[in-house]
Amino acid sequence: MEFKGVAAAAGIGIGRAMVVTPPPPGRARPAGVVTPEAAEQAISPAAVSQELERFWAAVASVRAALSRLHDELARTAGEEKAAIIEAQMMMLDDPAFVEGVREAITEGRKPAVQAVEEVVAGLAASLEAVADEYIRQRAVDVRDVGRQLIDALTGATPEEPLAGVVVTPELTPSQAAAMEPGRVDGVVAGAGGATAHAAFILAARGIPAVFGVGDHWAQVHNGDTVVVDGNRGLVAVNPSPQELDAFRVEKATWQAEQAALARLREKPAETADGRRRVELGANIGGPADVAAALAAGAEGVGLFRTEFLFLDRPDLPSEEEQFQVYKAVLEGMGGRPVIIRTLDAGGDKPVPALDLGPQANPFLGYRAIRVCLNRTDVFATQLRALLRASAYGRLLIMFPFIATAAEVRQAKSVLAEVKSGLDREGIPYDPHVQVGVMIEIPSAAVAADLIAPEVDFFSIGSNDLTQYTLAVDRTNEKVASYYDPLHPAVLRLCKNVIDAAHAAGIWAGMCGEMAGDPRAIPVLLGLGLDEFSMNPSLLPKAREIIRRLTIDEAEAAARAALQQS
Ligand code: PEP
Ligand code: MG
Repeated sequence: MEFKGVAAAAGIGIGRAMVVTPPPPGRARPAGVVTPEAAEQAISPAAVSQELERFWAAVASVRAALSRLHDELARTAGEEKAAIIEAQMMMLDDPAFVEGVREAITEGRKPAVQAVEEVVAGLAASLEAVADEYIRQRAVDVRDVGRQLIDALTGATPEEPLAGVVVTPELTPSQAAAMEPGRVDGVVAGAGGATAHAAFILAARGIPAVFGVGDHWAQVHNGDTVVVDGNRGLVAVNPSPQELDAFRVEKATWQAEQAALARLREKPAETADGRRRVELGANIGGPADVAAALAAGAEGVGLFRTEFLFLDRPDLPSEEEQFQVYKAVLEGMGGRPVIIRTLDAGGDKPVPALDLGPQANPFLGYRAIRVCLNRTDVFATQLRALLRASAYGRLLIMFPFIATAAEVRQAKSVLAEVKSGLDREGIPYDPHVQVGVMIEIPSAAVAADLIAPEVDFFSIGSNDLTQYTLAVDRTNEKVASYYDPLHPAVLRLCKNVIDAAHAAGIWAGMCGEMAGDPRAIPVLLGLGLDEFSMNPSLLPKAREIIRRLTIDEAEAAARAALQQS
């Protein structure tokens, strides 16, 4: 029997099935601790401090357990994967959670178990209400931490160690984190997708997984031979000997390929002569891309295009919805720098709720920062969500489509107003958030020296810079052959931007497609580019190219390219 699901963690696992069904309701609440009837009754004033103490003790014990898991994961799978557990640990410090439980105990007079259950249910429900799939998946984490707290409060004992191919209706992150790679061969889960935290943990541990198989999980019995193909999202139950052999060959080939890639991933993006090290960042479109970015060895996010929050919907995303998304990315990146670009509406990205109107030349029209400086309500909402999220990681804010220094000053003054508002309300944010701009309009590239004093960094948007410099619509197939980011005019502008940045003591990166183009990388390195941000899939190759070059070779390539008539 074969069935399909979602490829949740890559690799091919072969083993005997161990079917794990969820604990029956009430397992976490043994009789005598809190019965449903007792839960209805308010606790006595004397019991309040006792229940509070029990809650703090449970928090401490779950924190210690998570911390052990974190360290283990950091050792076996790298810091970036361990950040998943950090996000769970952060929930234990989250005022919305801790204060909520404290209030439920002190003011609501509820026993600790019930207080935790209610607050967790409320938080999980608010996450589940967000349209973004990734955020909805975070609800699983919240419930998982809640379950661990309840276990700690009620003294529930952990289950037997998992082994073979684990088959279950749903897998929580803590269950995933408790799985040992040598012991667990693979996982099949009825629910969940590739963005489930449990999936990231399994991927980090190299445990192949197929999630989202629906009710098929129930057709597998203990002891069946199961093949989990986490590359194709396929599960084979009791395959023929020939099929099994074919899976074994595929598994060996895949493992050899992975080993070669992993060796490179750990290496810094440093030139062969050791004279220059650059940053390799990932371009992402939402929280769901964080896992791929980290898996490809991204040292940060060089461009988070926030448009996905605004497209294909009749309304604008609320501050809270945006906050949850930005926070998820910052937490997911575990303290690495994350450049989030403010809304780049217009051009080829229509935002129905903003009603930008018909425009004869949308790429030369009402777009990006021009819209935001007009609709300061929309802009301020996004900036507020960003600043609030900055308390959860290392945020850098980037304004797109800047043509003049005056626009930067205007945008910064809206940012300053938003900061004052947060100060007045006592809402925490990182006061040192760096502010940068995309250099993607030729005027900004030519006069980059006038903009540099206003910002902390530049990021060259080569996609737009090429189209505007060469007068080639980037979306028009008919003129695609004219679209050449390696045109010396574009390269000279890039050189001007990088030189202006360095003269002003700031750094210059690039987040257009050119940054990941193997032909352009030597030239850009030779021009002195400090940061390259690209689609995660291009990162390993870019790293390899940079590590093969010397600075002398890169500079020679740049000199030659600037003169190509
Ligand atoms: C660019 O213009 O190079 C860029 C990265 O922005 P976008 O492609 O989103 O316009
Ligand atoms: Mg652009």
